[in-house]
Amino acid sequence: MAVKTFGVVGAGQMGNGIAQVAAYPGGLNVIMNDIADQFVDRGFDTISKNLDRLVAKEKLTADQKAEILSRIKKSTNLEDMKDADFVVEAAVEREDLKLGIFKKLDEVCKPDVVLATNTSSIPITRIAGATKRADKIIGMHFMNPVPVMRLVEIIRGLATSQATYDLTESLSKQFGKVPVECNDFPGFISNRILMPMINEAFCALMEGVGTPKAIDDIMMLGMNHPMGPLALADLIGLDTCWAIMDVLYKGFGDSKYRPSPLLKKYVDAGWVGRKVGRGVYDYTKK
Ligand code: NAD
Repeated sequence: MAVKTFGVVGAGQMGNGIAQVAAYPGGLNVIMNDIADQFVDRGFDTISKNLDRLVAKEKLTADQKAEILSRIKKSTNLEDMKDADFVVEAAVEREDLKLGIFKKLDEVCKPDVVLATNTSSIPITRIAGATKRADKIIGMHFMNPVPVMRLVEIIRGLATSQATYDLTESLSKQFGKVPVECNDFPGFISNRILMPMINEAFCALMEGVGTPKAIDDIMMLGMNHPMGPLALADLIGLDTCWAIMDVLYKGFGDSKYRPSPLLKKYVDAGWVGRKVGRGVYDYTKK
């Protein structure tokens, strides 16, 4: 099926980035959904500011920016996805919530529509089980920040069809991304490898091995990482990091994936990173 209208559920840091690349360079009409106007408006404003930067660099004209934004429809009702030809879910990393969203999407979307998830870790096969279209469920895992990062990790569930895979791969390319395929195991490839490193950085911090700056500096200067693991955790969101570790821990049943108690403490405090202005680091002060 030709995809003209692309649905995105969740307009947070990932959702609005996905909506942006679907509209430009993807060239599609977009329906961007969240639970309340304030979240959709915030996502829309982020896209507008990102496009302003492209206008300032003369990569887009002001007219082109206006045309791109005119193709992004705001939504607070999941029923609006009845008009979408392909949907990506990018709501918060909670299994119960995602299963509910997929059950509803399965009811409202046209029967031939692929329903993808941007989940960082929740099994694609389990999400597929909440629907009656398991062959059309797939992981389409973008990286943060979406407009900048090139990778889309595409995850096949047990029943994902080749046609679903091919369509997801071709859309990823249309959005200017490089798709890489993997199978459905806890954390897939990206977070199975990345998240234990971030978790270990919290363990080192908890044990007083070093300050946050020392831990981040050592990984940046010594390992050539562009960001330290604690700064990266703040960018990803500590709530998301904790949720991914919990999926790895439960999914493998192996104590090596135990989430750091300090990571959980930050989450309990609501210090979940840049998106709220406070994580390991304080972003309210310049
Ligand atoms: P976020 O907290 O920035 O945004 C989540 C959004 O989901 C919020 O705007 C929230 O209002 C919305 N939401 C909650 N319940 C909803 C519902 N029922 N229907 C529609 N929207 C709902 O989180 P994020 O960082 O954008 O993460 C979103 C997803 O992307 C998660 O599954 C996460 O694991 C995954 N992901 C995150 C990163 C990252 O670096 N942050 C990278 C790759 C994938």
